[in-house]
Amino acid sequence: MSLVVTGSIGIDTVHTPVESAERILGGSCAYFAAAANLLAPVRLVAAVGHDWPAEHAAVLERFGNIDLTGLERREGSKTFAWEGKYLDNMNIRETVDVQLNALGEAPPPVPAEYQDSQFIFLANTDPTNQKAFLDAFPNRKLAVADTMDLWINIAREPLNALMQQLDGLVLNDSEATLLTGITNAITAAKQIRSENSLKFVLVKKGEHGAVLVHEDGIAVLPAFPAENVFDPTGAGDSFAGGLMAYLAANDRTDFEAMQIGMAYGTIMASFTIESFSLDRLGTLTLDELNDRLDHFAKMVKVL
Ligand code: AMP
Repeated sequence: MSLVVTGSIGIDTVHTPVESAERILGGSCAYFAAAANLLAPVRLVAAVGHDWPAEHAAVLERFGNIDLTGLERREGSKTFAWEGKYLDNMNIRETVDVQLNALGEAPPPVPAEYQDSQFIFLANTDPTNQKAFLDAFPNRKLAVADTMDLWINIAREPLNALMQQLDGLVLNDSEATLLTGITNAITAAKQIRSENSLKFVLVKKGEHGAVLVHEDGIAVLPAFPAENVFDPTGAGDSFAGGLMAYLAANDRTDFEAMQIGMAYGTIMASFTIESFSLDRLGTLTLDELNDRLDHFAKMVKVL
C-alpha cells in the first residue's frame, strides 16, 4: 500500500559535544523517507528554495525508493534552516536558530499521481499545512502526524483542528507534557487520545524507548542499547519512517502490527544516530537491519 509523507526538508547545522557539522541535509521528512526507503516505496511532498544544494538533492536521489516528484524547488524562496546543539547529556537538545523560509509559505502541491496514497504521515511542519495535506487524501487508511514544541507553542489552534482528523499522533514525552501539562507520559497520552478520539498516541522517550497508548492496549519498547551515539538528530523521524513503512508494506494498521512496526522504527533510529545527516541510512542494507532486529528481539524477550 502506498505511503506518502510531507514535512520539512532543510539545511541543518548540528553541534554535538564532540563535533559540529554545518549546512548538512536534514528535515523531518528527509529522515522519515530515508528510513522508510528500505522497507517500502515512499512518496515525498516538500518545498525547498533556490539555495538547495545540488549535493543534497543528489543524496535524496540515491535512495532508490523515494519518489521525489512532489519535491518542489521555489526559485523565490529560501530553504528551511535549523541549527541545534546537544548538551553533554545527548538527550537534551537546544534549538539555536530556526528559519522557516519555505516552510512558512503555502504548502507544496500534491502530485495527482500521489492521490491514491493510503498511508499518510505528516512529519514535523506547520499544522495548517499538515491539515491541508491530509485533506488531499480522502480515501486514506491511516493518517498519523508528528509535532514538536515550536508548533505546540505557536500554532496550537491549527494543531487542535488537525488532531481531530488523525488516526494517530507521535510525539516526544516533553511535547506530550507541553500539550497537556501532565508529566506522566502514559496519562498525557491517554488524555490526548481521548480528547481527540484517536486510535493511538505514541510517545517517544529518547534513549528510554517508546510507549504506545492504543485503543486495543498499551505497548512499550526500550530503545536499542546503542553505545555509538554520534548525532541523535532525526531519530524520531526515522523511528516513524520505519514504523509507517512496515505498516504500509504489510497493509496493516492493527495493534500487533504497530508493535512490530515500533521495533523496526527503533532499529532504524539506532542506525540514524550513528552519523550526521542521512549518511548511515544511505549505506544501510536490509541484512544489517534484520540482523540488528534479531539481536534486539533476543534482548527484549520477557517470557
Ligand atoms: P528529530 O531529531 O527527529 O526531532 O528531527 C530533527 C529534524 O527536524 C532536523 O533535521 C530539523 O531540520 C527538523 N526540524 C527542526 N525543527 C523543526 C520544525 N519546527 N518543523 C519542522 N522540522 C523541524
